[in-house]
Amino acid sequence: MAAVFEATGHRHDHGAESDYRRRFAAPDSSRRDRPGPDDDAQLAELYDAALDNCRPCQEHLIDLVAQNTHTTTDLVNWACVITAETYGYLPDAVLHDDDKADLFPEPFRRLARTYQDRFMTGTDYRAMLPLCSSMTCDQRRQAAAAAVGLAVGLGDFGVDFPFQ
Ligand SMILES: [Zn+2]
Repeated sequence: MAAVFEATGHRHDHGAESDYRRRFAAPDSSRRDRPGPDDDAQLAELYDAALDNCRPCQEHLIDLVAQNTHTTTDLVNWACVITAETYGYLPDAVLHDDDKADLFPEPFRRLARTYQDRFMTGTDYRAMLPLCSSMTCDQRRQAAAAAVGLAVGLGDFGVDFPFQ
């Protein structure tokens, strides 16, 4: 909470029991090779700021997330899992569709395609990590922004996610 509060003076509440969307939890840190202590908190803050439609906090948090390959990979992987749970597959829009490049820029789609290619063997995260690491900070930023937009957009549909 501290990082974003100091930057913008806002608090975005992750504890609102009445709001079904707030049941979302950040990605499971046990999946990571080297979990960072602040990663989960950052992603929860980012998700809450996006639910509250707060642009300054989202911009600030996406900048922080994009500096960290693991956190960015977690976020994009999370968005891919949610999308696949919702649709039963990853729609072409998030993988290939150039007409949707404003919503899902190429860095996000490259990571999503890696997820698509590898999730059946459970190696999606491990394969996404080096790809994410090879990207520039700006590319990671684009991927993270698309991922959070996707997660929040699907949350609005009220999908009941099994991982909370
Ligand atoms: Zn805010």
